Amino acid sequence: MTALPKTFRVKSFGCQMNVYDGERMAELLGASDMTPASDGEDADLVVLNTCHIRERAAERAYSEVGRLRRDDGSRPMVALAGCVAQAEGAEASKRSKMIDLVVGPQAYHRLPQMIAEAATGLRPIDTDMPAIAKFGGLPRRRRSGPSAFLTVQEGCDKFCTYCVVPYTRGAEISRPWDDIVDEAQALIDGGAREITLLGQNVNAWRGEDGKGRAGGLHSLIRAIALIDGLERIRYTTSHPADLTDALIAAHGDVPKLMPYLHLPVQSGSDAVLKAMNRSHSADSYLRLIERVRAVRPDIAISGDFIVGFPGESEKDFCDTLAIVDAVGYASAYSFKYSPRPGTPAASMEGAIEAQVMDERLQRLQERLRAHSLAFNRATIGKDLTILLDRRGRLPGQMIGKSPWLQSVFVETKASIGELVDVRITHALPNSMGGVLRRSAVAA
Ligand code: SAM
Ligand code: SF4
Repeated sequence: MTALPKTFRVKSFGCQMNVYDGERMAELLGASDMTPASDGEDADLVVLNTCHIRERAAERAYSEVGRLRRDDGSRPMVALAGCVAQAEGAEASKRSKMIDLVVGPQAYHRLPQMIAEAATGLRPIDTDMPAIAKFGGLPRRRRSGPSAFLTVQEGCDKFCTYCVVPYTRGAEISRPWDDIVDEAQALIDGGAREITLLGQNVNAWRGEDGKGRAGGLHSLIRAIALIDGLERIRYTTSHPADLTDALIAAHGDVPKLMPYLHLPVQSGSDAVLKAMNRSHSADSYLRLIERVRAVRPDIAISGDFIVGFPGESEKDFCDTLAIVDAVGYASAYSFKYSPRPGTPAASMEGAIEAQVMDERLQRLQERLRAHSLAFNRATIGKDLTILLDRRGRLPGQMIGKSPWLQSVFVETKASIGELVDVRITHALPNSMGGVLRRSAVAA
């Protein structure tokens, strides 16, 4: 039997969906008579909101747990949450005596109850995956930064052979229309000016509006765009198979929808794409990008890449470099293939040597950096509207995002949450700098 925790800290790892879940857990704990621990203060409860995508994910999570032991030998109550919790389940409590409760990504609305059980000495585990019951059990959103995340879709039915997500997050489910529009309104009332709609396959979202009309992500975007006070809409991550004509059309005629599309391709080789069970070929992907650019020529394309998938030849890898050049990505995430236990690719033959993988990743990243730099340099001399979202390290310096999601540094007296016009004066691959033109709320 231990005392109920009074203070808490939520530590999130991995993707934006985990960041969103971490925020919701913190709001839930805050509404349950607990307060966030201040910086440097020991928390009574630590929630580790883990990610299972990368190599040695479980080992890393257990070593994070071990690090929570304090110098005097005491420790906080520890909740293991997120995708490692989902994948490990009861095994987690067996492997580490420090873990007091294990909660999967679809069950965290039960955290307060599980914490009370843990305080009595029980070690509760909930890794059930009911159809998005959790959202109904979470408090209404109250405060938000200028740029907010809003999960609209969870899970994945695509079963790419390398990926653990369909197993840790379950089948594709869409949150109901009204819940999403209500949450968007609450975020805007709480200070948000930009909303990023999130989903493992966000463009697989399907739902019905209040009048019973069925629609896809495009109809949701159009509805949210009508909300006063919201200036910018983004969405991520999209799958090429679900990029419909209607969603492409929205990029052409919804001004609040920002000119940015994260559309992972993973590889430029058709043989590798087939082995990955991606439903697109290099050519069909390029044609999709052409159609998006036809309605929004200035759109920034971003992507995800995996190098060293089993059986990837030098020629396959060169096809990846070729697709990078053909698209001219504005930004991208690139990873070395990591076998995930239980996925089909983990037992495929043709493992790529670590040294070859390292070398390919380096070559790919050099190529991607060159394209990012070219994309950013093309904006030098132009006036861009920037949404300020944090302070810079230098006195008077603020950092914000351009419509193309570039980070822009500027000296200004304007505050976080304001939109300002900045003339871009210099560019690096990951950021740009400029001078203030005028303070304005952009259309
Ligand atoms: N649903 C998204 C899509 O279709 O691309 C991606 C979601 S996944 C969480 C994010 C990225 O992690 C993937 O696009 C992929 O590049 C990378 N990833 C997933 N599994 C991986 C693995 N086993 N090894 C290396 N990278 C991986
Ligand atoms: Fe993973 Fe593929 Fe689903 Fe993306 S589409 S979450 S990469 S299985």
